[in-house]
Amino acid sequence: MHMVNGKALYKLCVQAFNKRQLSGRRDTVWRERLAVQEECKPVWRVLYKAPLNKRSGELQWRFLQGALAVNCFISKINPTVSTDCPFCQKPETIDHCFLD
Ligand SMILES: [Zn+2]
Repeated sequence: MHMVNGKALYKLCVQAFNKRQLSGRRDTVWRERLAVQEECKPVWRVLYKAPLNKRSGELQWRFLQGALAVNCFISKINPTVSTDCPFCQKPETIDHCFLD
């Protein structure tokens, strides 16, 4: 009999429960923005290599994944929060915070 450990079972459950939402979805938003081919896979571990500290690596990973609490995101969860940037009143997106 084949035994499945807890971590593998959890991964299978996450994939099964989210199969419909994940089908057809890109593995990273950067594939289209940077015109990266399918055979080129993201290598996230380079974000954590020295001399970077773990905190800087985490911030870079969150930026590249679009997982930062900017006002455009927070306002969807909490409608009392404005989408505006506190400095210029344009919508506060991740791109606006770090690129504009
Ligand atoms: Zn601004």
